[in-house]
Amino acid sequence: MDYKDYYKILGVARGASADDIKKAFRKLARKYHPDVNPGDKKAEDKFKEINEAYEVLADADKRKKYDTLGPNWQEQFGPSFSGAGGGRRTYSSGGMRGTPFDFDPSSASGFSDFFEALFGRSNAGARSSSMGGGMREDLRRRAGDNIEQPVEVTLQEAYIGGSRTFNIQSTEVCPTCRGTGEVNGRSCSSCGGQGQIPKSKRIQVKIPAGVDNGSKIRVAGEGQPGIGGGPRGDLFLVISVKPDATFERKGDDLHVGVEVELVKAMLGGEVAVPTPDGRRLLLSIPSETQNDRQFRLTGKGMPHLRGDGNGNLYAHVKVVLPMQLSAEERELFEQLARSRGVEARS
Ligand SMILES: [Zn+2]
Repeated sequence: MDYKDYYKILGVARGASADDIKKAFRKLARKYHPDVNPGDKKAEDKFKEINEAYEVLADADKRKKYDTLGPNWQEQFGPSFSGAGGGRRTYSSGGMRGTPFDFDPSSASGFSDFFEALFGRSNAGARSSSMGGGMREDLRRRAGDNIEQPVEVTLQEAYIGGSRTFNIQSTEVCPTCRGTGEVNGRSCSSCGGQGQIPKSKRIQVKIPAGVDNGSKIRVAGEGQPGIGGGPRGDLFLVISVKPDATFERKGDDLHVGVEVELVKAMLGGEVAVPTPDGRRLLLSIPSETQNDRQFRLTGKGMPHLRGDGNGNLYAHVKVVLPMQLSAEERELFEQLARSRGVEARS
């Protein structure tokens, strides 16, 4: 890859003003424009070279970077100097048609490998700086798209929180060509000349306690890669909570049925109320507790996803009638029947 002297290409001094550079570019562009030189391959190459030189020297940031590196640029060409583009090529043909110096890039970006090594491939999309106006900003940097990832959790996970591990498709600088896309003047075979290779990354994401159906958990910067050095999009986990056999959820309140022996419902006592995390809370019920009576265990429901505290846990009493009575128990029930004036078979 050869160093390109952009000042020489435009025929200006290193200290040339922006105006001088613009004038030189316009003059040369008129001379070598493909429309003026139909079928002339040399003129076309020259025209591309002029465009490239102008793309760099007309952009204060690019010019500064170019000047800093200078002809000894390869010495500074270390692994960290990756040509930060996302490996995606964007072209600005189309919208520029009809402008005086517009031309169709016939192959690839039309910019030299030197340019792409310095500024990244995607930067090559921002051509025609003299007429691009606001368009070049649009082409240059764009945040990546967000990704929505459905995640199903159990009620227990929603109650105490959990985590999930994901494989994220990312890219890293090709170690063979160090991001230049070429080795000894040939397109790098490891990365197909892209300078970047796909890389799978594992990330662990915490699922906060209190999530419900439709809850979205944002993982910043783990979405699609940005374009032209733009930031990555975000990853959103979209939660659905599996139905639970024991608990019914209404908002942050939980409802659970609790079986109570008839005699305990009659006489009163303590019953165990389960929670989604496997605990058993002792609930004291009064004598003569009726079937279907509901008891509130304050603050024992689902954690609020936003803000402190929890919903409530409601225990619904299901009175269980005794079975397989002994002779003695049957005698006691007969006594009870007589006492309450109930006609029963004896
Ligand atoms: Zn490579």
